[in-house]
Amino acid sequence: SSTFRLDRLLANMGYGSRREIQALVRAGEIELDGAPVATADMRLAVTPDLAERMRVMGARLDPPPGLALMLHKPLGVTCSHKESGPLVYDLLPTRWRGREPAISTVGRLDKDTSGLLLLTDDGALLHRIISPRQHVAKRYLATLARPLEGHEAARFASGELRLEGEDKPLAPAVLEPLSPTSAYLTVGEGRYHQVRRMFAAVGNHVEALHRDRIGGLDLPADLAPGAWRLMTPAEIATVF
Ligand code: URA
Repeated sequence: SSTFRLDRLLANMGYGSRREIQALVRAGEIELDGAPVATADMRLAVTPDLAERMRVMGARLDPPPGLALMLHKPLGVTCSHKESGPLVYDLLPTRWRGREPAISTVGRLDKDTSGLLLLTDDGALLHRIISPRQHVAKRYLATLARPLEGHEAARFASGELRLEGEDKPLAPAVLEPLSPTSAYLTVGEGRYHQVRRMFAAVGNHVEALHRDRIGGLDLPADLAPGAWRLMTPAEIATVF
């Protein structure tokens, strides 16, 4: 693991400027393993256990860089750093907006899609999950405007379905009808508005969309809309 100067690490985690961190050190407000740290330029190995070992103004340190989160995205929030209006990042602690590297979503869900969303500040992890070669399966629960006609599963599985305005056919996808107007659809790709456009391509219309699984990771039943938690290494491994 890499080592960081304490003041730089905490500044990058959004705790303030390096000067402000230095002032906290002088005031004895930063503790490591139960004792105030002596100097702001001490070097620290950045490991997950640092969060338990360090206190800042009496509170446990935020998760250090190299984190992954799962979030139950509610309807009406946007997966963007830039747009106005409620953003998924507004659901995280305010201090985290100052983090460097920044925490970003792993892929995106539409504003009007709910469900399991992963976030990370780890570029390598992000790449492993969204790389088109990985084909991590994502399962969506779609509620439809019109009853299924019975031909849709074969068309989605064919590997020949084209989306409006695109030349490259879609990779095979798996449809599991649940009722005349609802189904699970599992896709490996992540094209823009893919699920909505797939149903449009077979003459239907998605009225509600919810993602409940990424790879082998299910949205936990106890994670309420808007809630999030850190992922364990075992949970990260189940995504692939
Ligand atoms: N497909 C969509 O159309 N929207 C999403 O949010 C995700 C997949």
